Amino acid sequence: MDALKTQLCIVGGGPAGMMAGLLFARAGIAVTVLEKHADFLRDFRGDTIHPSTLDLMDELGLAERFRALPQRRVETFSGVVNGRSYRVADFSRLPTRNRFLSFMPQWDFLDFLAGEAVRYPGFRLIRRTEARDLIEAEGRVTGVRAEGPDGPVEIRADLVLCADGRHSLMRARAGFAPRAFGAPIDVLWFRLPRRDGDPEAAAGRFGPGRILITLDRGDTWQCAYVVPKGGDAALRAKGLPAFRAAVAEIAPFLADRTEAIADWDSVKLLTVTVDRLARWHRPGLLCIGDAAHAMSPVGGVGINLAIQDAVAAANILAEPLRAGRVTEADLARVQARRLFPVRAIQILQRVIQARVIAPSLKADAPFRAPLALRLLDRLPSLQALPARMIGMGVRPEHVAAPARS
Ligand SMILES: Cc1cc2nc3c(=O)[nH]c(=O)nc-3n(C[C@H](O)[C@H](O)[C@H](O)COP(=O)(O)OP(=O)(O)OC[C@H]3O[C@@H](n4cnc5c(N)ncnc54)[C@H](O)[C@@H]3O)c2cc1C
Repeated sequence: MDALKTQLCIVGGGPAGMMAGLLFARAGIAVTVLEKHADFLRDFRGDTIHPSTLDLMDELGLAERFRALPQRRVETFSGVVNGRSYRVADFSRLPTRNRFLSFMPQWDFLDFLAGEAVRYPGFRLIRRTEARDLIEAEGRVTGVRAEGPDGPVEIRADLVLCADGRHSLMRARAGFAPRAFGAPIDVLWFRLPRRDGDPEAAAGRFGPGRILITLDRGDTWQCAYVVPKGGDAALRAKGLPAFRAAVAEIAPFLADRTEAIADWDSVKLLTVTVDRLARWHRPGLLCIGDAAHAMSPVGGVGINLAIQDAVAAANILAEPLRAGRVTEADLARVQARRLFPVRAIQILQRVIQARVIAPSLKADAPFRAPLALRLLDRLPSLQALPARMIGMGVRPEHVAAPARS
């Protein structure tokens, strides 16, 4: 069996794990990231990079290289009811440097972070290696047991950061189970061609019994069709032609191309979960990102909150890690720092799910646009508020740990 020793072992090379890997390595910490897949190529993940994350790229001096990556900028988000468009969020009104959302495939963003992280001598990313168990001694987590292409490997570490996503095995091994808050919806993702003259850059289209989110990805529309919880099977049972017709009804400008939904394999289900751990840490172990709190897709904030967790963890833990004594109090400070922003956004998401999304899905006749939508459209200065919650969240993090190699 191979045995490795590092200061920090990060399980999971998603947004939380890769950003944490970059930040800790930049702070001079020896970091090993374990990623079970061979690459980052997974379709329909969080592909929205928000101003809070874009600002971090500036703080890290990576903005120029980041901007060179192919991406699509979006400055506004609208709600469309009965064919009439209401502007809901205007990111250009944000009091920050980057006043737009950037859409880019998550794998491009993760490749970028990995490319930046390997510049630091302490950084190591081990792919095709799946963490299977924790190593513990005297009540403290001291590493992980993993399975790689050449067999089992043990990684001993002063701290294990669990960034292994919403189905985290490591948090289960640590004895943690998240509290689920329930979500009345699931989401079906698919793509349709985008053509010149198509309306609206990014919009949510509401009609009786259906909601379609359309996101401009350059030559395609990334579409999210919202169904009541567990409604995927019933929808598929009605057949693809019925699904295509439903899409055309809610977004008539797409009617001439719904044949591009060739089969059900091109329609991917996201089972929506909103959950959170009561306790994110144990001696020697900390959960961040989706492993600590799965977010609703409302607002597309999942990646960005995962990254904020990584920044807070690096700000608080880089020094104790360097000194070789990370206490539980240090780990608790990370949770305390991040709990309020996560909880606040989850509450907002649940309110929107219950008050806006669920009623629209239950409606069987055309309805009037909700008052909030009409007010936001009429008073543009109010559009900064949703833009702020989506784009920057609550108490955005800033890089504080100094660069050392
Ligand atoms: C279908 C879908 C669509 C989504 N759409 C959006 C969106 O539009 N906007 C948005 O902001 N968010 C979206 N999300 C959520 C967003 O992708 C997540 O919130 C975000 O990726 C969380 O980052 P993370 O690093 O915490 O976890 P993840 O991105 O889940 O990363 C976890 C990583 O850990 C690896 N891993 C897991 N277990 C192990 C193990 N035992 N050993 C080694 N590696 C392991 C996984 O392979 C993965 O790379 C979507 C999620 C899904 C599933």
